[in-house]
Amino acid sequence: TYVVTDACIRCKYMDCVEVCPVDCFYEGETMLVINPNECIDCGVCEPECPAEAILPDTESGNEQWLELNATFSSQWPNI
Ligand code: SF4
Repeated sequence: TYVVTDACIRCKYMDCVEVCPVDCFYEGETMLVINPNECIDCGVCEPECPAEAILPDTESGNEQWLELNATFSSQWPNI
């Protein structure tokens, strides 16, 4: 799965949301997250992000972001 990191905070671009084939982005007040259970790992959102906030969870150090994305995607509205 791919995960959204804190570089997303206040980014305001929604290019990632537009390209996601499974609509697995969720929106909080200041950032977006990806639902790891719905993400099909296609990778098309990663290069669309102008803030470079989207990364694969397999990259070392991204475990914390996976947890955050999993937690908040269950609480925030789908967009
Ligand atoms: Fe959506 Fe693909 Fe990005 Fe996962 S990797 S969030 S399925 S665009």
